[in-house]
Amino acid sequence: MENLASLTIAQVKEGLRTKKFSALELAREAVRFAEAENPKTNGYLTFSPELAEEAASLVDARIARGEDPGLLGGVPIAVKDVLSTKGVRTTCASRLLEKYVPAYDATAVDRLKAAGALIIGKANCDEFAMGSSNENSAFGPVRNPVALDRVPGGSSGGSAAVVAQGTAVASLGSDTGGSIRQPASFCGVVGVTPTYGRVSRYGLVAFASSLDHVGPFARNVSDAALVLEAIAGRDELDATSAFAPVDDYQTEMRKPVAGMKIGIPKEYFEGLEAETGDKIHAGLDVLRKLGCEIKEVSLPHTPYAISCYYIICTAEASSNLARYDGVRYTARAEAATLTDMYAKTRGEFFGMECKRRIMLGTYVLSHGYYDAFYLKAQKVRTLIAGDFSNALRDVDALVAPVSPFPAFKIGEKMADPMQMYLSDIYTITGDLAGIPCMSVPCGNTAQGLPVGMQIFSGHFKESSMFRLAYAFEQAGGVA
Ligand code: GLN
Repeated sequence: MENLASLTIAQVKEGLRTKKFSALELAREAVRFAEAENPKTNGYLTFSPELAEEAASLVDARIARGEDPGLLGGVPIAVKDVLSTKGVRTTCASRLLEKYVPAYDATAVDRLKAAGALIIGKANCDEFAMGSSNENSAFGPVRNPVALDRVPGGSSGGSAAVVAQGTAVASLGSDTGGSIRQPASFCGVVGVTPTYGRVSRYGLVAFASSLDHVGPFARNVSDAALVLEAIAGRDELDATSAFAPVDDYQTEMRKPVAGMKIGIPKEYFEGLEAETGDKIHAGLDVLRKLGCEIKEVSLPHTPYAISCYYIICTAEASSNLARYDGVRYTARAEAATLTDMYAKTRGEFFGMECKRRIMLGTYVLSHGYYDAFYLKAQKVRTLIAGDFSNALRDVDALVAPVSPFPAFKIGEKMADPMQMYLSDIYTITGDLAGIPCMSVPCGNTAQGLPVGMQIFSGHFKESSMFRLAYAFEQAGGVA
């Protein structure tokens, strides 16, 4: 049996086509291997062998009938534990939902299944996707497979770690302020945050609804684009999902990049670690050699992004998390009165970070403060989005670092939430603007820690972003 850790989607398809292995064999081996390796990183919270084997049997039957096994036919995939999976527990890495088993699939999961993917398990993450290091999981932190004493990033730390570790070929994560790109950069894999509305949020447990995005992780650009193609597109069940047609990314990304115009936002090169900056500049040199035209641009409202984000996301989170009251879905603490039961349940089962955000969010939405904070933040958000529209009028894409520094040590930033919030300084803006953005591996520091290069493009122009990323990867990237 093939080593799962080295398989790409194309190799899975080839192996099935040439009968090197069956989908069922692959499903069994993938779950066995992922379970055996998991103690090293804690990337998975739950395994779903029945789901994987059931899907594999369907794929094998399709192949036996001479049919197309699907875009992701037979591909072992992990899903972040904030996406609802019918019959498989979905915890959001919270003690509140430790035993919650959804009665339906998220649309993204449903589409993975329709494409023939083998869902092998649910990936660990920060509780309700709140965090930048995966240390806020109620079920223990995830360790970065590249350096086990370091964080994998967050909040989709498990989704990034399992792909980097080789215990899944690809995975799904969610990104509200950087939670796909930042862990992808810390673990040295590709992570994609599509345009807001490109992928349905139906069945994604809501953190901050106007900022939440579902997107893929993979070990190369082509695989990530393939997973996105499978899950993208209009969904009647999510009113914010877009009608815009989904491009043929596999064809589009192979178009040459010579003559493409790239903007370098100068604000994204202030205050980052020198080694990270050097790698990104080396990455830009590669793009220059490929014939891209590079020029400096400005996104002047960048300094307000963190404040703006932490007002909007906490406001929305405080409302979204109100449903966990001990009556529906969740664990319940016993108390004499209903009000006491609500308070005790929420007090006992929510982790620290969730409580901090519920308090902040309730405060910024409270009477008398609403205009000063929430409304103001919405206006700032419009200015930040405007910065990107202005810049992207003159260039096809923007290139910047993903994070000011590489993966940090477990425990290093836990005592200081402000420090932790700053790790998303370059990623939050993309979510506020709702534009597509991604992280592509851009070499390692002297200590061997991966650095990610971020690419942004205009709304629904994922193709331009993939084109640059693919050309960069094919050219060998940065050592
Ligand atoms: N780290 C950011 C936060 O804690 C982003 C999280 C996310 O994108 N889900 O809010």
